[in-house]
Amino acid sequence: MHELSLCRSLVRIMEDEAARHGFRQVRTAYLDLGALSCVESAALRFAFESCARGTCAEGAELVIAVQSARAWCWDCAGEIAVTAYGGDCPACGGGKVQLLDGQEMRLRELEVE
Ligand SMILES: [Zn+2]
Repeated sequence: MHELSLCRSLVRIMEDEAARHGFRQVRTAYLDLGALSCVESAALRFAFESCARGTCAEGAELVIAVQSARAWCWDCAGEIAVTAYGGDCPACGGGKVQLLDGQEMRLRELEVE
């Protein structure tokens, strides 16, 4: 499961941070999720709960912000925002659209104690 492996690395990052900065508990984790990451936030929360058990991340709240993806439209010769795969350019309706990002998940900030 995609979400499970994401959460494993997420918890690993938090434990590294805890070791480095000497905190014991993550209260809130702020995540940026690309609109095209194919990650479902409910599944992500569920997987996180099981991965975090017994670590500094146990009981932490996940705040997930979905970021629209950026793409390049060759007809407009400009950058556009897209929220789905295979969509046409919202500005000109053209189909020559190349994705630039939107598939990643990033840990933006941690609130700790
Ligand atoms: Zn366009």
